[in-house]
Amino acid sequence: MSGRQLNRVAVLSLHTSPLAQPGVGDAGGMNVYVLQSAKELAKRGVEVEIFTRATSSSDEPLCEAAPGVMVRNIVAGPFEGLDKQDLPTQLCAFAAGVLREEARHDAGYYDLVHSHYWLSGQVGWLARDRWGVPLVHTAHTLAAVKNASLAAGDAPEPVARQIGEQQVVAEADRLIANTSEEAKQLIEIYGASPESIDVVAPGADLTRYRPGDKSAARAEFGIDPRETVVAFVGRIQPLKAPDVLLRAAAEVVARDPSLPLRILVVGGPSGSGLDRPDSLIDLAEDLGISARVTFLPPQPSERLVQIYRAADVVAVPSYNESFGLVAIEAQASGTPVIAADVGGLGVAVRAGETGVLVQGHRTHDWATALGNMVTDRDALAAMASRAPIHAGDFSWEHTAEGLLESYRAAQFHFDRHEAPSEFSPRRSRGLSKLRRAGVTA
Ligand code: UDP
Repeated sequence: MSGRQLNRVAVLSLHTSPLAQPGVGDAGGMNVYVLQSAKELAKRGVEVEIFTRATSSSDEPLCEAAPGVMVRNIVAGPFEGLDKQDLPTQLCAFAAGVLREEARHDAGYYDLVHSHYWLSGQVGWLARDRWGVPLVHTAHTLAAVKNASLAAGDAPEPVARQIGEQQVVAEADRLIANTSEEAKQLIEIYGASPESIDVVAPGADLTRYRPGDKSAARAEFGIDPRETVVAFVGRIQPLKAPDVLLRAAAEVVARDPSLPLRILVVGGPSGSGLDRPDSLIDLAEDLGISARVTFLPPQPSERLVQIYRAADVVAVPSYNESFGLVAIEAQASGTPVIAADVGGLGVAVRAGETGVLVQGHRTHDWATALGNMVTDRDALAAMASRAPIHAGDFSWEHTAEGLLESYRAAQFHFDRHEAPSEFSPRRSRGLSKLRRAGVTA
């Protein structure tokens, strides 16, 4: 498509490291996405260097995450104690670190920049202009969308973030959306040009997440084989709505106290959930179901697969979810999902076939849906057998193929419209834009 080579991509992941344990703080699906897609790109002959902000003095400046995947820890601001809301203050320092790193090499060291989340997009935009290479951007979440479906008491995302997102949308050569719904939001809310968007679904590590022995999995966590287990897996914050699951579980138990229901909550506090890290434990107590709720800290994927297998149902009650990797991982592991019908969850779960989608977050509706799901064992077994087949459509291999197509389209577009032959590639795109508009000579 383009005469350009695609040997090395600079991936920007400013606000969270791909090497962090997901499921707590700011580490979640994006970390998994960045690392897994990078590994698959590397297997396809594209080297990936992931730039992230160093968060510990022991972080090596450069480390190998996988063959062909390097992580560069850029010092930008204090290692610890910097709130996500304060990260914009470190954009300049991070950008300087990225640009200096590139300057140590011959021109043309990176063939493309791929930024994740709007903060990285701001830096990617600058790198694009300086290096004369295309910028591909994935938003992962959008402030306007998030603010439209906030959990009660959750603070809205600042206007500055939406402005920043808007700028990146305008500057990126291509945008990756997880679903066609997200593509629509980028067009309708952020004014993205439809031709600049590629819909590329995220995936799951299907070699890790696959069905297995439920009894053995339960034994690993000391779970009674006779219990009906519903698991919540993810960062614990109001947006993820684990409280909706607990309230529903309490109502299910109130309707039928003989039901041996156990709720497994896996993950750690995150976002505004950090303000009250024990709030879920307190809620379980207030609801009188403490004895039926087990809390586990964030788990690595080799343990997480056993959690999914141990569960009869995995719940994803989020108020907003741009995709929902947990839903795919659970289904890949042979476990049906009950999810809120929001964002990408409508794609991740095949309603009625591999799980159940619930409208809204009312306790009564969730209790009815959950109660029906766990008591109809035949329907549950049928969903469990279909779930891995559906999840089989979502692999990181597939995601990487989609990214490569998008990268090539970005290069093609960039060569045709952006790389002015009379300019050094290191000249600013902003300048070339002004020239085209006749604003400057
Ligand atoms: N995760 C994990 N250990 C945990 C909890 C979560 O590794 O204890 C991972 C999980 O496997 C998934 C990601 O965190 O890949 C969460 O992604 P999701 O898209 O569901 O939510 P996000 O964090 O992006 O909001």
